[in-house]
Amino acid sequence: MNTIPSPSGAPRPATLPTTVLGYPRIGPDREMKKALEAYWGGGDPAALSAALSSQRERTLQHLQGLGLRGDGAVPADGAAIDQVLDAAVLLGVVPARFRAAGLRPVDPDSHDGLALVSALARGTEELAPLELTKWFDTNYHYYVPELEPGARFAPQGEAVARRYRAFADASADLPRLTLLGPVSFLLLAKVTTGALEGGAAHGRTDPRSRLDLLPDLCQAYATLLQQLRAAGASWVQLEEPALASDGWDVPREPIIAGTAAAYRQLAAVSDRPNLFVPVSYGAAGAEVLEALGGSGVEAVGIDLERGEVPTAAELAPLRGITLAAGVVGGRNIWRTDATHAVRQLDELRERHRGPITVSTATSLQHVPHDVARERALDPEIACWLAFADQKITEVLSLASHLHGGSPELESWCREDADRRARRAQHPRVHVAAVRDRLAAVHAGDRRRGPSAVRREAQQAALQLPPLPTTTIGSFPQTAQIRRLRAAHRRGELGQEGYVDGIREQIAQCVAHQEQLGLDVLVHGEAERNDMVQYFAELLEGFVTTTHGWVQSYGSRCLRPPVLFGDVHRPQAMTVEWTRFAASLTSRPVKGMLTGPVTILAWSFVRDDQPLSETSDQIALALRDEVDDLQRSGTQIIQVDEPALRELLPLREADRPEYLRWSVDSFRLATGSAGAETQIHTHLCYSEFETVIEAIDALDADVTTVEASRSGFEVVSALARHGFSRGIGPGVWDIHSPRVPSVDELTERLRLAVSVLGAATVWSNPDCGLKTRGWPETTASLENLVRATAAVRAEI
Ligand code: GLN
Ligand code: ZN
Repeated sequence: MNTIPSPSGAPRPATLPTTVLGYPRIGPDREMKKALEAYWGGGDPAALSAALSSQRERTLQHLQGLGLRGDGAVPADGAAIDQVLDAAVLLGVVPARFRAAGLRPVDPDSHDGLALVSALARGTEELAPLELTKWFDTNYHYYVPELEPGARFAPQGEAVARRYRAFADASADLPRLTLLGPVSFLLLAKVTTGALEGGAAHGRTDPRSRLDLLPDLCQAYATLLQQLRAAGASWVQLEEPALASDGWDVPREPIIAGTAAAYRQLAAVSDRPNLFVPVSYGAAGAEVLEALGGSGVEAVGIDLERGEVPTAAELAPLRGITLAAGVVGGRNIWRTDATHAVRQLDELRERHRGPITVSTATSLQHVPHDVARERALDPEIACWLAFADQKITEVLSLASHLHGGSPELESWCREDADRRARRAQHPRVHVAAVRDRLAAVHAGDRRRGPSAVRREAQQAALQLPPLPTTTIGSFPQTAQIRRLRAAHRRGELGQEGYVDGIREQIAQCVAHQEQLGLDVLVHGEAERNDMVQYFAELLEGFVTTTHGWVQSYGSRCLRPPVLFGDVHRPQAMTVEWTRFAASLTSRPVKGMLTGPVTILAWSFVRDDQPLSETSDQIALALRDEVDDLQRSGTQIIQVDEPALRELLPLREADRPEYLRWSVDSFRLATGSAGAETQIHTHLCYSEFETVIEAIDALDADVTTVEASRSGFEVVSALARHGFSRGIGPGVWDIHSPRVPSVDELTERLRLAVSVLGAATVWSNPDCGLKTRGWPETTASLENLVRATAAVRAEI
């Protein structure tokens, strides 16, 4: 240890070295995904534990190897699955229903801890898991801690010390443990009235009371800080991303006052590490800087990807403390605009009276590891991109400028400017035909006939019973299906063999659905690796990656495509599969498309034109597909928009404009559907309250929504809004392997019917079934059909 404790107990405040806020935790080859799933499949906890240790070690060493050096430079993220869930366990926030089942707060890195973390994330036979919800403006999802009345914090101090020592042993310099900070922890959690038997707790108490927990919570953090210091830590990161966004159910003033008080309390802890508080996913704002600046913390980080460079007056409260300038973005894969970043740093240097460190705007957990691994990528396109490792190099280059200037910097900026100019002129980036077509779009293209007329035409054509049963699209993606696609991708299976193989899967899926007695069938999506990637591979304007995995939630990873150019559809994408499925049954088969907003949300999108324009380009491509499906006899077409809520801007002021163009794009995609064609949409992930008006404005004939994870709150919200379209609130939570009972499903359906009326309700699961196995799928759908029959008999 080369830091000398100062009288207050904190190490002598050193300047925080050049750093990044975080790094992908899942591993370059998804090692952690594999380890988690092996464990969840009944594997040995020791194997998971070993995988976790080696993943941590590998990351530390890799980051040092890239050049992050000095005490506190390397972020050490200990979470096995999720940083919020990890914080909840480290603080001992375990809902009563889990504690009652013997799952008590414990070291998250121990075997019992891994079992606890897994149970919280996935639920058990009897216990509903924690809710999942969107993490700021990313497509990462975190597990929502539940704060119950009378809950006590039980900080796992020894665990955190053990974790830190393991990290420190594996590294030359002292790493910096990363933890979610107390204010964000409280804001991201859900305040509940207490556990309901077997289910998540949903009642809400006065949300303001959550900030009352802050002093106690800080007490728990103080324990963790002291243990970290005792274990030798010189720096710790307490992230406060929640401070950059609004829309919390607590007014801004008490949040700011709470922040100031919380950090004063933490800064006053004797024997603690230096505190680094990054405020990411948006601009911190003057009040937050003031609250943190005056508290006694040693370093504050700001997001300069979204936020402007603060003025000298705004920076005044940070006088003397380290400012970590997040000039390199963490949410996209484009190279940093070097000239712009240098200018931002120069401005900061003029305005901030204290040390400046270069950092990232957010954690790099949202981007893939290394673009150099993408050998199949067109090198001209690859050179526009920076994944996590390239971003670290950018951070280091910018830091060298800050520390005396580097001769390479000028040529680096010049090269970057040249690359940008080449990109702007690339023939796949600007396609005249696409631009002309979009320019010719008029308002009528986004309108269908009156919905009442459509309803009648569709009922006449489809003759569906009340409470029609259906699924959301995908059926279990079995090992056999994955093998089939992999063999095709590797060229071991020719096109004909592949088509036969997928057709066989479709045939089985259709037969299964007929046997179950579902009313509206799907083809099952066996040909789709992922609902966005599938379309990205078939549309022009995208490239896909080989190793570009990012964690979405839990063990689930996505490989977001890169949308770099003008989008158009060279040929039909889904028609043949749908037509084949329809040929096997007399029941209607839904066509299945992914909507423009979701394609945007789950891709890395070009940053050189407004999202609305890119979105409309996708919409026109989908419109062609809708036309082709209709022409081939498809009577029902579902256009999934699970990410509609997800892309909603964090700042309230930006929301109306977003909702306008996103709804418009959906309507452009579906606007050519005839009155007798039934357009469905599907939405999932998190609360819909804020977007119900927009959901209505989509003008879909039927909307299926995730509902059971959040206690069916959406049903009453829809009723309050007067939603009168077809509506399928998901009655089966498909995120866990648990099979819902007939009674449970009946009760939910009854509730939906009583609140929304029998004429409009559909009966369906929460979401697609691709992550489920066949046994629970069959059992659950059998129950769903039985429950539907029971409720039909009552109406
Ligand atoms: N149709 C998709 C599926 O069933 C929808 C998935 C989603 O909403 N995320 O898999
Ligand atoms: Zn869904």
